[in-house]
Amino acid sequence: NSPLHEVDPDIAAAVDAELRRQQSTLEMIASENFAPVAVMEAQGSVLTNKYAEGYPGRRYYGGCEHVDVAERIAIERVKDLFGAEAANVQPHSGAQANAAAMFALLKPGDTILGLSLAHGGHLTHGMKINFSGKLYNVVPYHVDDTGVVDMAEVEALAKEHRPQLIIAGWSAYPRQLDFAAFRRVADEVGAYLMVDMAHFAGLVAAGLHPSPVPHAHVVTTTTHKTLGGPRGGVILSTAELAKKINSAVFPGQQGGPLEHVIAAKAVAFKVAATPEFKDRQVRTLEGARLLADRLLADDARQAGISVLSGGTDVHLVLVDLRESELDGQQAEDRLHEIGITVNRNAVPNDPRPPMVTSGLRIGTPALATRGFGAEQFREVADVIALALLPGYDAAALRARVETLAAAFPLYPGL
Ligand code: PLP
Repeated sequence: NSPLHEVDPDIAAAVDAELRRQQSTLEMIASENFAPVAVMEAQGSVLTNKYAEGYPGRRYYGGCEHVDVAERIAIERVKDLFGAEAANVQPHSGAQANAAAMFALLKPGDTILGLSLAHGGHLTHGMKINFSGKLYNVVPYHVDDTGVVDMAEVEALAKEHRPQLIIAGWSAYPRQLDFAAFRRVADEVGAYLMVDMAHFAGLVAAGLHPSPVPHAHVVTTTTHKTLGGPRGGVILSTAELAKKINSAVFPGQQGGPLEHVIAAKAVAFKVAATPEFKDRQVRTLEGARLLADRLLADDARQAGISVLSGGTDVHLVLVDLRESELDGQQAEDRLHEIGITVNRNAVPNDPRPPMVTSGLRIGTPALATRGFGAEQFREVADVIALALLPGYDAAALRARVETLAAAFPLYPGL
């Protein structure tokens, strides 16, 4: 029972270096966040030792009385948080949650409608070499020329292809979806509606984004993005579908649940119900809006920089570099050089290959968790804009990043 740095100095060094990287740079990957210490404590607990195949009260292993308590708390909290009739907190990740939900609702060969990966959808919404693209007949829908999901196309494709499942949700999209409209289309063609709210679940929990729960048969999410918890997945559903979903997760897709992660999810759901969490989501949205505004200013526009859909309603901005001298890879590298971490991202109808791209996805959740408010987001937005302009001064911008990072210490006790 010696500490990590004695048992395995190599891994301890990698963990320490990663902590220092997180502390000294500005994290703006839209799908990332900083889990509270209490979440990490639960996740690093002895619950990692426990096998608990099955569900609370109906396990295939002895000694589950305490993990049953934790899992029941997680289920009740997430149901309350989102007003859902039923919840499964066992999916190991967002991809597993989607796989299990589709396994519950579909047979191989059924037709699914999902937002094209190239237009902001997720791999699990029908990418060719993902399980979803291999098992199901995929019909992708798209965004229109203004960068907004084309509901007329969704309806036309649904009527033509009669899918068994319509998926609403995204990994890179700066606007809100009309869940009621998706449900109307689903009902017209007799399809299930699944909403994957992985990215915006924290905004929904805070009441700052419309909830998909009243409209969808099934809602999936990750717990580590805007929600700010441990890495993992959750499936919410109607009471009617609960049994099917539970059996699709276990034994359909997974074996033993990760009870240490489930306990950490419970902690995150408790945190997500607090006024402090709501304040953080308010700052997240404000930061994204300030960033979009800055990147739409004249100097950026003159350098060929633009923002997809002309702004944002959520926690991220999609920067369009098709008219800029920089491609996505070069822009990501420039920001990395000054201590800001983002990811390059394809824009709709991207002329460049997926490993290069003509866009950036920039998110504000992690910096809001770190404590950033309007003043700091204005500063970081200016730094980002200047870094993407010709003749940028890397040393000066790096110094401004360091000042911001030092003013908002991350994990000070670690
Ligand atoms: N669904 C959406 C919309 C996502 O953006 C992601 C992750 O990026 C996932 C699902 C998958 O989550 P995970 O990486 O936990 O498998």
